[in-house]
Amino acid sequence: MKDVIDYQKIFSDVASKVSKMDDLGNVACYIPELGTVNPNKLGIHLTTVDQLHFHFGDATEKFSIQSISKVFSLTLALKLKGDKLWERVGYEPSGCAFNSLVQLEHENGIPRNPFINAGAIVICDVLVSSLDNPKDDLLDFIKCTSGIDDISYNEKVVHSEKETGYRNYALANFMKSFGNLNNEVDCVLDFYFHLCSIEMSCKDLAQAFLYLADAGVNPITNTTVITARRSKRINSIMQMCGFYDEAGEFAFKTGLPGKSGVGGGIIAVHPGKYCIAVWSPKLNKNGNSYKGMALLEGITTRSNNSIF
Ligand code: GLN
Repeated sequence: MKDVIDYQKIFSDVASKVSKMDDLGNVACYIPELGTVNPNKLGIHLTTVDQLHFHFGDATEKFSIQSISKVFSLTLALKLKGDKLWERVGYEPSGCAFNSLVQLEHENGIPRNPFINAGAIVICDVLVSSLDNPKDDLLDFIKCTSGIDDISYNEKVVHSEKETGYRNYALANFMKSFGNLNNEVDCVLDFYFHLCSIEMSCKDLAQAFLYLADAGVNPITNTTVITARRSKRINSIMQMCGFYDEAGEFAFKTGLPGKSGVGGGIIAVHPGKYCIAVWSPKLNKNGNSYKGMALLEGITTRSNNSIF
């Protein structure tokens, strides 16, 4: 059955309300290249599993998706390694910042989940070991399953992250010392920084993540991206871990599995119904889009359409 909610009206109403909020937060200056983005950008795109599209603002402009891409890398690693993956990374919420080091020592170098930086770095190590050409193969996987051809890495962002990624180097070296990285730190981090530098628009994201709303199959390309069971599990990890120490806040106020990135993007999924991506570059203190969180809260509240 078609979704008959008037999202177009809801988007413009909610965006107008959000534009009147205090203009808080900052773009992610700790990666200097991300600091060059126009902080006033704002985009929304929703795609239903029936392939209806609704959009608002800068929905077709590409931006740095940053940690949103950690869902793609997890999907590919799970496809290649199956449940053995969980021997090297957990699936519990961390309750800590995305780049935190504190839990790793107590937990012997096994990161809490695949969405904090440490966990995503382990997933990158798995992909570097399993793929012939990790960078090309990852992009091909995203392009083929989504049906979107113009997806690329931004080498300026990669360079900027390499120059300033002291914490990521610390995390990778620490895990290497525990024996939880099989490849060399520089090689794994080169792939990790590329993963974070992928550029996509809200429209691209809503389309590419539709497999999580349709039991593992992207209905646009008709490709089975992952099994239905694993798709459910990825959604559950997004629900619990997608916003780091603010995962509870997002579940509480928006009520959808989701994943944020420090480029100011957020993807959220309503299994069985739709995918929605929002973009607003200014971040709150937890590294999540300040207005993006407010937009999604407003949209699921107005449409009365969350998973709870
Ligand atoms: N590239 C960023 C980092 O490693 C990704 C962080 C994020 O989007 N939360 O710090």
